[in-house]
Amino acid sequence: MHLGIRVEVVFGKRRIYSGLVARVHQEAPTYRVRPIISVLDSASIIGEKSLKLWFWIADYYACGIGQVMLAALPSRLKLQSDTIVTAGVEMEDALFELEGHHATIAKAIIAQESVSIDKISDILQIQSVYPYIKDLLEAQIITLDEELKDEYKPKLATEIVLIHSYQAEADLAALFALTKNAAAQTRAVLALIDLMRDQGYVLQADLVKQAGITHAVIGALEKKGIVEKRERELSRIKHFDQDLEVAPSLSEEQVSTLQQIERTPNAKPILLHGVTGSGKTRIYVDLIQKIIALNRQVLYLVPEIALTTQLVTRLEVIFGDELLVYHSRMSADERVEVWMRMQEGGKLVLGARSALFLPFTELGLIVVDEEHDGSYKQDNPAPRYQARDSAVFLARLHQCRIVLGSATPSLESYFNCLQDKYHRIEMKSRYGDIPLPEVVVADLRAGKKNAYFSDLLLDEIEQNHRDGFQTILFQNRRGFAPVLMCSTCGWHNECKNCDTTLVYHKYKDVMQCHLCGFQERPAAQCPSCGDHELTLKGFGTETIEDELRLLLPQYRIGRMDLDTARGKKKLSAIITKFEEGALDILVGTQMVAKGLDFSRVGLVGVISADQLLHYPDFRATERAFQLMVQVSGRAGRKHRRGRVVIQAYQIMHPVIADVLTNAYTSFYQREIQERKNFNFPPFVRLIHITVRHGTAAKSEAAAFYLTKSLHAKLGSRVYGPIKPSIGRVRNKYVHEIVIKLEKEPLIIAKTKLLIKAASTQVKKQTGLSTTRIAVNVDP
Ligand code: ADP
Ligand code: ZN
Ligand code: ZN
Repeated sequence: MHLGIRVEVVFGKRRIYSGLVARVHQEAPTYRVRPIISVLDSASIIGEKSLKLWFWIADYYACGIGQVMLAALPSRLKLQSDTIVTAGVEMEDALFELEGHHATIAKAIIAQESVSIDKISDILQIQSVYPYIKDLLEAQIITLDEELKDEYKPKLATEIVLIHSYQAEADLAALFALTKNAAAQTRAVLALIDLMRDQGYVLQADLVKQAGITHAVIGALEKKGIVEKRERELSRIKHFDQDLEVAPSLSEEQVSTLQQIERTPNAKPILLHGVTGSGKTRIYVDLIQKIIALNRQVLYLVPEIALTTQLVTRLEVIFGDELLVYHSRMSADERVEVWMRMQEGGKLVLGARSALFLPFTELGLIVVDEEHDGSYKQDNPAPRYQARDSAVFLARLHQCRIVLGSATPSLESYFNCLQDKYHRIEMKSRYGDIPLPEVVVADLRAGKKNAYFSDLLLDEIEQNHRDGFQTILFQNRRGFAPVLMCSTCGWHNECKNCDTTLVYHKYKDVMQCHLCGFQERPAAQCPSCGDHELTLKGFGTETIEDELRLLLPQYRIGRMDLDTARGKKKLSAIITKFEEGALDILVGTQMVAKGLDFSRVGLVGVISADQLLHYPDFRATERAFQLMVQVSGRAGRKHRRGRVVIQAYQIMHPVIADVLTNAYTSFYQREIQERKNFNFPPFVRLIHITVRHGTAAKSEAAAFYLTKSLHAKLGSRVYGPIKPSIGRVRNKYVHEIVIKLEKEPLIIAKTKLLIKAASTQVKKQTGLSTTRIAVNVDP
């Protein structure tokens, strides 16, 4: 028995769970012991340090260790009693060879199409089912239902194999005698031997290409008994087969930045504060190369899948097959493959926040790119962890270097530098010494001929186009129009599950809820007064795209938002199209703002700055500043200085003034003062508690109960219950409680225990047992 192996345990009468060995010890237990009925793995699927990370996350973010495990393990490695299994690709072939319990399970699956693991244990009348499930899974005779949703298909190709008797050197003469009179066949055999030596197997497609033969030649060799065709399952990790490139030589500023990094002790996290386009990626490349040379591993975190797509292209020419990618949009099987590769010492993994959980053996460096980005924080479900902060902890576990990079650092990280917890290294100029873009404001109060575009922005778009450059237009709301309204009685089209208005999506001609996904056809007349004059108000990316097509019919226009780029393929198709110059204008949500590197963007337009400044969140101004600076940073990265037009009504807003001059410090000082005045992070530790119930009164009662019991112990640190701006989501009524704690580890730990106890108490009150309580630390 050792750490990190999966075992099967029985709880209660018949509930069977698969669990992970977290600790092996000799202490007498203080709890009721349950027997382990089988051991699933011979080797650990996860190491000691990863387990420490899990426990830290569970503790820090106040959730269960089981929730962390579910988030951490790829679905293939999770077996739960309610997991549904179905037939896998090998079922048909294998069915008649199976015996005993294996056969019974297979037959049950065929009879019922899909069965839960619970049900299987009923059918078999035995307790221990996981070992059989695991065998069948590994043989691909069955598969987990969850994986089917990923539309998993094994990647198969035809392989050409030399028949056994010709494999020895001595037989080669005999072999060539057989093909003596057929030049093409001889060529094929030579190529086959050649390819075999290179990669250990030969695919039909490669052989045809390399030998310059037709499929008929292979057919002939098959008839002569020289070769045989087989099906081969290919690795899902893409093989990079182009020539590798040497990273470009470093600029002076990059050299000195690297020296400063070298001089900083590993124990201190580094904040690489470099303006947009300063070439931070080139810095990471250098650091990565040095770590790989030491035979250690690198974790490179990015916040957005859009960024992964582009970085893969930039990094694979340098690192080739050493680069692995890991994120939630990959198929379950791809994910397990990467998992295994890292366990075997895989060198470099680029991934979204969940890559944090990969089983690193020798971690030597962590890069957190765009560290300020809000999507590093997981909101739902638990664990509600902040991947950047967890990465800092992971680095400490491995005693390795961690570099957080950003042009617009989060207030927390910058604050940490001033507190001397992190070390800040600055890069002030763009690579190639191109000045940062010139930012101007278009005053919307002056009126405009068009509903969405100022004359200034339109002129700039046309001028930029004439100069041969591309434009990015940023509008942080997708869809066509957020409100369908009756101009007679004021009726709004609201979601039936949530207290929010539906957004009109013209392309699909539906009204859609962005919170729960509910859709319906737009009403033809007002359901309230019968009027036919329903009007659409407000606008999103789709409106902007449409209007542009009318105004500038000769331009090629693309759109990048959740609607057009839902899949990984669609997303990279849009990015490539824009990169290759097949689009003149790209309209998009914050997806276009983040870290992308396009070389021919001359102009960036922010359609509505006001919209960004008004979110009911204490980070709203910070986000607005970061988004505007980041999207501006997409302009003029190569060739010539870029231009940015920000459309706004509140042109005197201090945040806009800071964006105009790229004045991070001015922004920071004002914002940190606000945080101090109003008692927000980083001066306090914030904990949000969300209470949900299907009945409004019960949600309120639960929230009051919770507030009262917390208030009794924590006093004025507790605020609430608060009815949030959207009081109902997915038919659940929501109330919130906010706790602000001084940054005292003891108080924080005590509070988490209090919350846990109070939450348990709430659910014991009559009528409140179905209350859902979510705790969010550092929201
Ligand atoms: P950042 O991430 O700091 O915004 P990037 O790393 O994307 O900046 O670099 C901006 C641009 O400058 C990229 O197109 C990159 O290829 C280029 N660049 C950066 N450093 C170098 C270098 N040493 N040699 C050549 N090109 C470079
Ligand atoms: Zn009406
Ligand atoms: Zn809804």
